[in-house]
Amino acid sequence: MKSSKVAGRIAVLATALAATVGIAFASGAGAGISADEALQKLVDGNNRYVESKMHASALCDATARGKLAKGQQPYAIILSCSDSRVPPEIVFDQALGEVFVIRVAGNVADPLVLGSVEYAAEHLKSPLVMVLGHERCGAVTATVGAKGKAEGNIEAIVKAIEPAAKKAKAKCKGKSKEEIIECAAEQNAKDVAADLTKKSKIVAHLVKEGKIKIVSAKYDLDDGKVTILK
Ligand SMILES: [Zn+2]
Repeated sequence: MKSSKVAGRIAVLATALAATVGIAFASGAGAGISADEALQKLVDGNNRYVESKMHASALCDATARGKLAKGQQPYAIILSCSDSRVPPEIVFDQALGEVFVIRVAGNVADPLVLGSVEYAAEHLKSPLVMVLGHERCGAVTATVGAKGKAEGNIEAIVKAIEPAAKKAKAKCKGKSKEEIIECAAEQNAKDVAADLTKKSKIVAHLVKEGKIKIVSAKYDLDDGKVTILK
């Protein structure tokens, strides 16, 4: 699909969304900063969290809420797990309007998730996308230990993580089950990050144009530190 056609379709979607739910769309680049600057802001925020020097909640007062009611310019899109111990706004010490967060068990990317990433990247102009996995992830653990079909719709999550779990089992052969689970969590975050451009023409186009950067990362449940994966 040609980029003009893609942009046209997104514009139609954005207009429809705005009309339906009254969303105000930001016209500037996501807070006007680069992907590297956005990543640095996340790293700095995580350092504050690790050191218990958080200050973002003080920036979530009525004044901030009032300003943001008119529109948003989040500078980063974060796709993370739904795990209650890994809320991105808290572990990166971010205030209202700063990060566009998509959460789903196992931080996997189905069409609904991809659509959310496309919307924030294309229309809110967020320059950075981070796929955030984490230590001792329940979804990854269930996939690594899966015997037969998982119950209900959980199977869809297991299926999405399965390729990464298979790779991890081969890569970390001979290691303990716990180590294989960590290996799979890292592999899954990396694979989902790589999949964003494979599964989304809009994301691929924005990466090619240098408008967005995608990184994968992993959160440590014990010390709260986020490590950028290479
Ligand atoms: Zn998880």
